[in-house]
Amino acid sequence: MTAQTMSAVVKRGDGVEGIEIAQVEVPTAAPGQAVVDVVAAGICGTDVHIAHDEYAHERPVVMGHEVLGVVASVGSPDDAHWVGATVALETYFAACEVCELCRAGRRNLCANRRSIGSFRNGGFASQLLVPVINLHRLPETPVSSTAC
Ligand SMILES: [Zn+2]
Ligand SMILES: [Zn+2]
Repeated sequence: MTAQTMSAVVKRGDGVEGIEIAQVEVPTAAPGQAVVDVVAAGICGTDVHIAHDEYAHERPVVMGHEVLGVVASVGSPDDAHWVGATVALETYFAACEVCELCRAGRRNLCANRRSIGSFRNGGFASQLLVPVINLHRLPETPVSSTAC
């Protein structure tokens, strides 16, 4: 079986010249994880700093951490209720889980968090992989083309 690929904005080398549209492997969800279809991904000031090598990251990495999406698949049957949900995502992938902030449920402030778009593949792609605990379900509000 050959792995399916998708187009993604990949930070591969130094500076802005080190960013390219490349083919990367489509993710699959392990237990506790979800694959999210990206509906929209914003360009954050941090992305500009990553582009100019002014913010820590590990290459190669798919950029983008401000993501709105729809859950495409999950790795565990227990999480099946997430499939089809419209979601916003935490901007990190993993936290240390042992520091005072993590234990207080404030994992987003963990000093050792590993964020999407800088240390794990992010949302400037058709899909990305995230832990289910980082999903936030959005209300099923009809989208009007006249709303702004
Ligand atoms: Zn941001
Ligand atoms: Zn922590």
